[in-house]
Amino acid sequence: MTPEPSPMSACDGIQPRLSEYMDRQLDRIQADQVQAHLSVCDTCRGVADDLDRLRGLASSLGPITPPAHI
Ligand SMILES: [Zn+2]
Repeated sequence: MTPEPSPMSACDGIQPRLSEYMDRQLDRIQADQVQAHLSVCDTCRGVADDLDRLRGLASSLGPITPPAHI
């Protein structure tokens, strides 16, 4: 029996979007959802930190990222 919805389901929805969130590819509503979730969820914040670190490493290895057009 599952009397309460598992918080994991929210994480499952958030984590696949984290890299897009960091690339600012999400629309504003989705970005707000990710941001709101990160503010309450240590797990996803840890995942975001790891992603951030990996991306930093990747960019230090070579100019892989294309120039950003704003
Ligand atoms: Zn989470």
